[in-house]
Amino acid sequence: AHLKSPQIHSLPRVPLLEHHRRRPPPLGLLAGVPPPLPKQKVVVVMGATGTGKSRLAIDLALHFNGEVINSDKIQIHAGLNIVTNKVTTEECKGVPHHLLGIAAPDADYSASDFRLEASGAARMITHQGRLPIVAGGSNSYLKELLDGDMRAFRRHFDCCFLWVDVHLPVLHSFVSDRVDRMVERGLVAEVKDMFSPCMNYSKGIRRAIGLPEMDQYMRSEEIFGDRQRAKVLENAIKEIKTNTCILASRQLAKIHRLCMLPDWKVHRIDATDVFQKKGKFLDMAWYNLVEGPSIGIVREFLNK
Ligand code: ATP
Repeated sequence: AHLKSPQIHSLPRVPLLEHHRRRPPPLGLLAGVPPPLPKQKVVVVMGATGTGKSRLAIDLALHFNGEVINSDKIQIHAGLNIVTNKVTTEECKGVPHHLLGIAAPDADYSASDFRLEASGAARMITHQGRLPIVAGGSNSYLKELLDGDMRAFRRHFDCCFLWVDVHLPVLHSFVSDRVDRMVERGLVAEVKDMFSPCMNYSKGIRRAIGLPEMDQYMRSEEIFGDRQRAKVLENAIKEIKTNTCILASRQLAKIHRLCMLPDWKVHRIDATDVFQKKGKFLDMAWYNLVEGPSIGIVREFLNK
């Protein structure tokens, strides 16, 4: 399924929020002094890979009439939907997603490109009376959006930060299993489609975990027999798991650093227990521990 722009026009609209309502002109205007423009509101969902940021962003978008702006630097690029774990059309539940798969696979897309485009998307979404929800694991992009270019974004938007946290050993085991599911869904074929003998793994989507690890396997087709190839594949999958765990740990360390900065008042939501449940118990735990508390925090933020 192509994921670029799942559209919803049929979502129920919630009544206009307090911050969208028109108010009488303040006294300063009558006296000839232009008042500061009222700030719009943005929700930012942070978290390491695999913690459930995308699901929470969609839940919040459905609840508060919002749209999601992707902040994963690899998912910005088109292609490799399985390898990069992009949300499927079904998972989007009709919520529009911006900056997902919009750059060519080998395009250079810098943090400042992201700042400009994400700011534009946030303005457009608020202009339509909806709530922008920025979600993704690339903390360098978030830092640039919120603190870059003389903090222009903060002049227009008040931000509510939510951090979905999962105890690392639990998360490591989850993301390792997720790699097995990605293989079942067709990771090998997807990598094969993109592979060429002169791949540059430092550019665009080719930096994705899952590509360099599969290089030897892709090159081994005419050299090795089936048994040897199976071993090479097994090792590649192990390496993808290890590198995904390393990514999760690094992202977590960066979130800890961001939380220490001024103006990053982050609400931590502990989702660890959700990851130890299955089926309907998982859904219940998700609602009780993650979605419900997040809705409470965002509601309070919007009513401020
Ligand atoms: P850094 O400065 O280390 O690049 P960052 O905050 O800018 O960190 P991250 O999202 O942590 O960005 O991505 C770091 C690296 O992790 C990417 O260059 C890529 O190798 C890998 N990565 C990130 N997101 C994905 C993804 N969705 N699929 C596969 N690999 C990813």
